[in-house]
Amino acid sequence: RQWEKKVLKSTRPESAGFFTVLVTGAAGFVGTHVSIALKRRGDGVLGLDNFNHYYDVNLKHARRNVLDRAGIFVVEGDINDADLLRRLFDVVHFTHVMHLAAQAGVRYAMQNPKSYVHSNIAGFVNLLEVCKSANPQPAIVWASSSSVYGLNSKVPFSEKDRTDRPASLYAATKKAGEEIAHTYNHIHGLSITGLRFFTVYGPWGRPDMAYFFFTKDILKGKEISVFETADGRSVARDFTYIDDIVKGCLGALDTAKKSTGSGGKKKGPAQLRIYNLGNTSPVPMTKMVSILEKLLKVKAKKKAQPLPKNGDVEFTHANISLAQRELGYKPATGLESGLKKFVRWYVSYYGTTKKKNGSSSAL
Ligand code: NAD
Repeated sequence: RQWEKKVLKSTRPESAGFFTVLVTGAAGFVGTHVSIALKRRGDGVLGLDNFNHYYDVNLKHARRNVLDRAGIFVVEGDINDADLLRRLFDVVHFTHVMHLAAQAGVRYAMQNPKSYVHSNIAGFVNLLEVCKSANPQPAIVWASSSSVYGLNSKVPFSEKDRTDRPASLYAATKKAGEEIAHTYNHIHGLSITGLRFFTVYGPWGRPDMAYFFFTKDILKGKEISVFETADGRSVARDFTYIDDIVKGCLGALDTAKKSTGSGGKKKGPAQLRIYNLGNTSPVPMTKMVSILEKLLKVKAKKKAQPLPKNGDVEFTHANISLAQRELGYKPATGLESGLKKFVRWYVSYYGTTKKKNGSSSAL
């Protein structure tokens, strides 16, 4: 069948020793970059994405075109569709699953809470159920989030810090994912590595994130709201460039131990790990805006506003020593040079006044 042929072609690794990876959320921001990086080093990659309309779906289709040109096939489907997942696992023996499909964004959770439960909890469980029964069982690496640290007042955040005070439903579903991972590891011997990403940015990024819509609004001459804390300090984020995150994801796939199968205890415990993937240098939003002003050569119309209770936290800052030690993770891109690459992509994709269809294909 046509569909199966495409799946098999896309997942053919260069030779023995390379991985065969199912990337969920492949038409998303991080998924596109990770899929391309895997393919470039010789791994077989199959994408899965439901192309939901949370943000501009044309952007997701444009990313899919980039993947298509790289020889990566993206199946359109939902991680809640058990039949589809089983069919994929019947056709392909995945060595790894890179699970990036999720309902992202903290603020949208106030408008559509059920979409978070659907993708981040029910969908994750569905995927783990299929992985549990697959033969061989794939090692799973998945995206948790720095948001699990919630209303933690102690920075930098390290993996052992408390995560019991989520500030948004998004954070609560990611935290639930971490607990769910524990049970599938404990009972079914699945090897699961969770990665807590810290504010990822870069070319082909997400239009719902501040650096992205600030760029759009600054170019349009629209006012932007820059949030500050009750004592007048700028909110700050540990912005992490996409290429660094991709290296962290590949490092996690490379170090993920093989699953041990049901009753994992007999063959030794399967791996269950959690790592922070951040940049260890938080930047105030005011500074991020001034970098954008410089790169865009446009003065922003800024309005300082108190941080509303919308799911955002005041500060994020990653302690990355565990990922450095165990994954060889070493972020290398500072905010100014990363934003420069983002702005270059943004302008080539949208133009300086936003056009409907972008033409850029560079990654
Ligand atoms: P994204 O929204 O661009 O990508 C997610 C993709 O998953 C989208 O293309 C979406 O269509 C797809 N998807 C959503 N629900 C699905 C479902 N039920 N079935 C199939 N596909 C589905 O987001 P991103 O920024 O690329 O994030 C990737 C992962 O990293 C997500 O799990 C996100 O929560 C996590 N994360 C991202 C950041 C960040 O700053 N970008 C920070 C922390 C965590």
